[in-house]
Amino acid sequence: MELTLWTYEGPPHVGAMRIATSMEGVHYVLHAPQGDTYADLLFTMIERRGLRPPVTYTTFQARDLGGDTAELVQRSIRQAVERFQPEALLVGESCTAELIQDQPGALAGGMNLGVPMVNLELPAYSKKENWGAAETFYQLVRTLLKAQLPAPGTPKPSPSRWRDEGRRPRVNLLGPSLLGFRCRDDVLEITRLLAEHGIDVAVVAPLGSRPADLERIPTADANVCLYPEVAGPVCSWLERSFGTPVVRTVPIGIGATAAFLRELHGVLDLALPADLQSLEGQPSEAERRSRLPWYSRSVDSTYLTGKRVFIFADATHAIAAARIASKELGFQVVGLGSYSREQAREVRAAAAELGLEALITDDYLVVEKAMGEAAAELVLGTQMERHSAKRLGLPCAVISAPLHVQDVPARYSPQMGWEGANVIFDSWVHPLMMGLEEHLIGMFRHDFEFVDGHRSHLGDGAPAAAGTGEPEAAGTAAAGPAADPVPAPGTTTAADAVREALESLWTADGEAELAKIPFFVRGKVRKNTEAFARERGLARIDAEALYDAKAHFSR
Ligand code: SF4
Repeated sequence: MELTLWTYEGPPHVGAMRIATSMEGVHYVLHAPQGDTYADLLFTMIERRGLRPPVTYTTFQARDLGGDTAELVQRSIRQAVERFQPEALLVGESCTAELIQDQPGALAGGMNLGVPMVNLELPAYSKKENWGAAETFYQLVRTLLKAQLPAPGTPKPSPSRWRDEGRRPRVNLLGPSLLGFRCRDDVLEITRLLAEHGIDVAVVAPLGSRPADLERIPTADANVCLYPEVAGPVCSWLERSFGTPVVRTVPIGIGATAAFLRELHGVLDLALPADLQSLEGQPSEAERRSRLPWYSRSVDSTYLTGKRVFIFADATHAIAAARIASKELGFQVVGLGSYSREQAREVRAAAAELGLEALITDDYLVVEKAMGEAAAELVLGTQMERHSAKRLGLPCAVISAPLHVQDVPARYSPQMGWEGANVIFDSWVHPLMMGLEEHLIGMFRHDFEFVDGHRSHLGDGAPAAAGTGEPEAAGTAAAGPAADPVPAPGTTTAADAVREALESLWTADGEAELAKIPFFVRGKVRKNTEAFARERGLARIDAEALYDAKAHFSR
């Protein structure tokens, strides 16, 4: 194991903590040395959770190592069960405790606790947090469903059993957890989306569920694998053991949301509604329900087309981001990678489709180097890439765990479904627009609005009058420069003549380039370019002259 300052994932026992803390009625006894309680802060500080995680640490110290640490484990388990009266108990060890080989799970197994118990064997030196979360969730579901396992040879349930039973179809949403990316809001968004299609949600797990809810998992007609990093193994096991089909499309982005609904309708033997049927080359009605497609075709966005985007995240969000960036926003993906080694194959396939080689690593410095070499103009990553992008002066949006406290917003901010696509548009495109604005500020930095001591339209911040040592009269400051005399109606002034002459200089391609500039600065760009043309005695203002003027004023 390497000591590192920053890491994408914690050790696997942190993954187990994510499952225990996401649920109600579950307690985790963790054999761990004093100091490992730091992990509590991930939930109280980053997730802003009001309660400590439901974890009892054995907190052994150096002096305990000479004595009977196994007795300490048993005492901690007994006390935790008496005090918290959990409906299910997880027992495991942290990386350091693994070296003592007390085998706390085996000890708990011999204690006749009268509560379902999962012995977590999470190899701390070869696996990481997401694997630990997936394994814990899988072992917990397996333990709780043991009594319901169908006998070998039992036929698979029919996909339309809901019809035979005279009820609406229902599915489980599996995988959302604390310290995942926007899971709380994704669950709400997908629950609403399903309700619009007459589909109920049976169980959401692990987030917000109790052990008794996990026992209801087989009552659903299908399992939706919302976050494969956490729910992949359990969904595959449920498919093998109970014959429950799995919906594997992750509905992040417009295309994927529509594909998710189509897959779900197919799996449940539901007729596909007209608005989910694609017309030749046209987005379907459902695909038009998000503002992302329209916004991404809007005038301002022509500036964004072809932007070079570098993506590094967990596998689910990295693959989704690559698809949205390349197919829905018209960006050019110049780098794609993930720290999720378990899903490396899927990331490699997504990268190959874009003509790239996937970067699979958990070294953030390797990612930072690749980001710089790719000459990216936008970075979509984790909070680690946010730091790296800041160092490189690149705009960045966070799209995946590991996250920072600011990535757990109080407001509704899903990534999945139609509304998720809107949120994605805003959070990816606005950092780029800010770059655009800074560029324009550079272009017009000599104008009075942008110089030090500039004043507002109300005269606030007016500098003292130079030379006299007297403050400028309030009335003068508020009135601004003296107004031009108003010409009589119908008269052509000299200023009009100059204006007409200048306007006639514009060529069609110059006007076309000018039209691409956002309306709120277009007038100013026109004026500056004409001033530039007049100074240089240019006979015409074409696109090249416009960009020469831009370069001149940016200098
Ligand atoms: S501020 Fe940055 S470096 Fe510090 S804890 Fe948060 S994410 Fe880590």
